[in-house]
Amino acid sequence: MTASARTLVSACLLGRTCRYDGQSKPSPAVSAWLAAHGGQVVAVCPEELGGLPTPRPAAWLAGGDGAAVREGRARVVRGHDGGDVTAAFLAGAQAALARAPDATAAVLKARSPSCGCGQTWIDGRVQGGDGVFAALLRARGVPVTTDEDLPARG
Ligand code: SF4
Repeated sequence: MTASARTLVSACLLGRTCRYDGQSKPSPAVSAWLAAHGGQVVAVCPEELGGLPTPRPAAWLAGGDGAAVREGRARVVRGHDGGDVTAAFLAGAQAALARAPDATAAVLKARSPSCGCGQTWIDGRVQGGDGVFAALLRARGVPVTTDEDLPARG
């Protein structure tokens, strides 16, 4: 990776307390991978960038994955009352990408309804599919991976 390359990273993996429960998920494996690969790290939390508070109610996708949400075929809802937070998730994904529109990679938190890659919470359980932010990045051609996939990829 060149020194000018930029990598988008879920902020909670770098210790920011931006998760729905007010906690973080610092990952030594992610920090080590970023240090080894060089370039600039751009930490983002798409849910906060979408205007949602921290802490906030847990949310999941309803009726489809992040790609379906982006196409208007599915929604994002709060788990406890079904309140629709789709607009905040979509706006947050766009705002997060805008922090590094030239990003060449993304390392994201596994299974998050925003950041999950390949697996995320849909209709109350973990299913195949991307979160909303990961789906946007994939559509823009940015390679995405999760904190849990990094060791296998080196
Ligand atoms: S939206 Fe992404 S960065 Fe923000 S807390 Fe959830 S997993 Fe972490």
